[in-house]
Amino acid sequence: MSLLTVNELTKRYDDKLAVDHINIQFDPGKCVALIGPNGAGKTTTLRMLSGLIKPTSGKVSFEGMGQHDDIRRLIGYLPQYPIFHTWMTGKEFLIYVGRLAFLSKEEATKRTNELLKLVGLEDAVNKRIGKYSGGMKQRLGIAQAIIHHPKILMLDEPVASLDPIGRRDVLSLLETLKQEMTILFSTHILSDADEVSDELLLLHDGKIVESGSMDDLRQKYQTSEIELAFQDDPVTY
Ligand code: ATP
Repeated sequence: MSLLTVNELTKRYDDKLAVDHINIQFDPGKCVALIGPNGAGKTTTLRMLSGLIKPTSGKVSFEGMGQHDDIRRLIGYLPQYPIFHTWMTGKEFLIYVGRLAFLSKEEATKRTNELLKLVGLEDAVNKRIGKYSGGMKQRLGIAQAIIHHPKILMLDEPVASLDPIGRRDVLSLLETLKQEMTILFSTHILSDADEVSDELLLLHDGKIVESGSMDDLRQKYQTSEIELAFQDDPVTY
């Protein structure tokens, strides 16, 4: 059974059709990149999938279950601009988030220690988040998003605002995490998608216009330096 099935999902804001009848099926264990230019509908799609906003129409189901509060625990979500309590240390923050996720004090502390190691922040446990680099903050955000052991992790433009070192660290963390969970992340940069994803979904003007592996797309478009033709509005990456 698919982990996540999306049927004709649509979001309209007044006269703007932000997401237009998209259909997606995710198999467990895949790392999928949702790629598209600014305004394509990536954030709106991820917000609907994670249950943060309601679709205008269409349906999302996880392992055959409809979207209701219970399935929130299956999903980890990192927004494009995560908010941290910057006066806290990374360790204090994760324990606090763990408690909010209904872990006992002991469980929250144990999970925090595991996660700090997993995301490579064990040397910064006692440093205030306000002093973290952009890449460190994103890795802490990822730890926060998976504190409750979700089955799928969704990340909105996780490397968009990072310098090359932060970007490399976050992409290599995703490479590690994809061994353990299904990942869906958005990006507008093809090389980021190519680096870690098994499959790409190309979103343009609210519609999925192509899907497949990078190799599939290369064959289809027969270019080495990929130039993806987005229907009548070509976009070069
Ligand atoms: P970006 O990379 O710039 O964040 P995106 O691919 O994530 O773009 P969305 O943020 O999902 O795209 O926006 C899709 C379209 O919907 C855009 O035209 C945007 O202006 C519009 N939109 C998004 N949120 C709202 C809102 N709350 N009210 C009205 N229009 C919105």
